[in-house]
Amino acid sequence: ATLANQIAAGEVVERPASILKELLENSLDAGARRITVRLEGGGLDLLQVEDDGVGILPDDLPLALERHATSKLHSVQDLHAIATLGFRGEALPAIASVARLDILSKALGCNQAARLQVAGGVAVINEAAARGPGTTVRITELFFNVPARRKFLRAAPAELARNQKVLRQAALAHFSVAFHLYQGPRGLLQFPAATDAQGRAERVGGVLGEEFLRHAVYFELEDQGLRLSGWLGLPTYNRARGDEQYFFVNQRPVRDPVITHAVRAAYADVLYKERHPLFVLYLNLAPELVDVNVHPAKAEVRFRDARLVHDFLFRSLQRVIAEQRP
Ligand code: ADP
Ligand code: MG
Repeated sequence: ATLANQIAAGEVVERPASILKELLENSLDAGARRITVRLEGGGLDLLQVEDDGVGILPDDLPLALERHATSKLHSVQDLHAIATLGFRGEALPAIASVARLDILSKALGCNQAARLQVAGGVAVINEAAARGPGTTVRITELFFNVPARRKFLRAAPAELARNQKVLRQAALAHFSVAFHLYQGPRGLLQFPAATDAQGRAERVGGVLGEEFLRHAVYFELEDQGLRLSGWLGLPTYNRARGDEQYFFVNQRPVRDPVITHAVRAAYADVLYKERHPLFVLYLNLAPELVDVNVHPAKAEVRFRDARLVHDFLFRSLQRVIAEQRP
């Protein structure tokens, strides 16, 4: 099992930011309303995620570290319409096989918290403990047993920047959840829960800058069960950076050639001079129309009808852009 976990770790645990993505997904799947991330050394020395979600029962704690022991899928049918961010049951065992992992959790309605500490896939402590409802996962000694991986890590500031990017992405996809990120004692990102349109716009401004908001248009369009909404950067804002393009499919950050092509084509069609427009876009569609089980890190998707999605994106964006022209 240790070997299989280490192989899986090669696919899902590339660096601190890939661990952070998985831990955030777990907290979000647990229904957390408030998530606090604490880093030291850009996440290389310490990466901790604390949430106020449903927690894990003491007896289930060892299970969380067993490969493919996900609590989120119950049938093959579930796999065709995945409603949670995680579903493979691979992340925690993979992380635990290449780092020291410490979980402290108190399940909803259970009066006893429990703690499990694992190093290199072997449990070293399993004890009763105390905390409020929710879960804290703490990762230290990353890649202590995989020197080859350690070599590929960058310096702390670069890893910190990647972690911040992952948190910004999560913050844009989950407005109603409060997110905080600390590096040592310094609060670097603070996103209070956004419950209305103004709060959501403020969060977008917090992530992409107020200036972006002033040069962006918000829109919502729906057709044939496909829904596209978000903020589209206008040509008047020309401090465009290629990495400030956020696209979410059913609240998952996604990179996909079908999407990229449709967006490019829509901008090009109206002679938009910006080659790298800024945007935050949300595509929502029935879960069975999109396969997220393409890659272990879940950053890619496959649309059942790629043509339909492409044309809907292209037409919608083209229309929004055209309406903005004087
Ligand atoms: P997956 O998310 O694919 O199910 P993971 O390895 O990421 O697999 O997590 C294993 C299991 O541990 C989850 O299915 C869930 O039951 C439990 N778990 C992990 N993190 C949390 C958390 N923050 N809150 C509650 N349960 C959690
Ligand atoms: Mg998970």
